[in-house]
Amino acid sequence: ATPLSVTVSTGRAAQMGVLIRSAEALETCGKINAVVLDKTGTITAGKPSLTDVFPLGKWRKMPDDLLAITASAERDSEHPLAAAIVAGAQEEHLTLGEATQFRAISGRGVTAQVALPLISANNPTVAADESSASSVAFESSISSPETAMYNVAVGNTDLIDDLDVAMPSVGDEDLDDIIATMERLSAEGKTPMLAAIDGELAGIVAVADTVKADSQQAIASLKSRGVNVVMLTGDNGTTARAVADQVGVGNVIAGVRPENKADEIAKLQAQGYTVAMVGDGINDAPALARANVGFAIGTGTDVAIQSADVTLMNGSLMGLVHALDLTRATMRNIA
Ligand code: ADP
Ligand code: MG
Repeated sequence: ATPLSVTVSTGRAAQMGVLIRSAEALETCGKINAVVLDKTGTITAGKPSLTDVFPLGKWRKMPDDLLAITASAERDSEHPLAAAIVAGAQEEHLTLGEATQFRAISGRGVTAQVALPLISANNPTVAADESSASSVAFESSISSPETAMYNVAVGNTDLIDDLDVAMPSVGDEDLDDIIATMERLSAEGKTPMLAAIDGELAGIVAVADTVKADSQQAIASLKSRGVNVVMLTGDNGTTARAVADQVGVGNVIAGVRPENKADEIAKLQAQGYTVAMVGDGINDAPALARANVGFAIGTGTDVAIQSADVTLMNGSLMGLVHALDLTRATMRNIA
């Protein structure tokens, strides 16, 4: 039979918005000595916004078109990074195009064919400057929107490497400068992505997320209870380090492909740790299932919640701290 103290603890946890699925999970909770935290949506709010757009090559003259094309390719993606790019374009009141042959490459980015009303529909000033012919020609190009097709890829350097994307054919862009810009954005804790159009680099777009108000406090509380706190993310190492510094996490495992997140949990278990994993995304599900106790962020995806033993209803990592305190006390009572 379930000891009364377990029932009481489960109820008390629930009052604090921490839903523990089983007596077994509650028992294991009391033994946790390592906590692995996903970055995006777990330590951070998971509502990133677009912060920078750096057009390259010919797109330097058409920054809005670059953003419109990039956002059009991201429209069908469920990734929070994609949502930030689309929202950024909508804030600028840009017209988005139709995307076909959309493909999401997990942990890397997206590719799609984008059909958009002809170039500079979004940059009338540029079009007006360049069509020295007459204002009539310009107006007619608006009233009869021709559609151009673009082959688009948006993602991290791995994706761009895989696709053999070339440097811009217009202008004298320097690869070192592009890499330096991406590093600088990463050091600010932003996630930089590369956009390629028709096989050439076309721009850098960056997105940033803010850390949740109480992430730092929760992480300090975990550390003071002797817990080994680790950040696990698919994002690049520089961005991950910048965010980890903001919240006081020392151990960072970055650039991890979704299919390898569970392996990182197993490595800690092999070192003798009883591991809790906290995550919100579809890509966290295998790691949540693999951990001794999986904690899903209640505002996260259904797949994460189904894979987890505990749900943190209000999304705060303080729920995890409360669960630890409660279950450690409960285990002492039973023992
Ligand atoms: P996380 O662990 O932060 O949830 P993911 O494994 O989902 O990260 O993605 C890792 C990296 O792949 C991202 O930081 C980004 O550079 C790239 N990426 C993933 N999805 C997209 C997308 N829809 N658009 C652009 N880049 C993406
Ligand atoms: Mg996440």
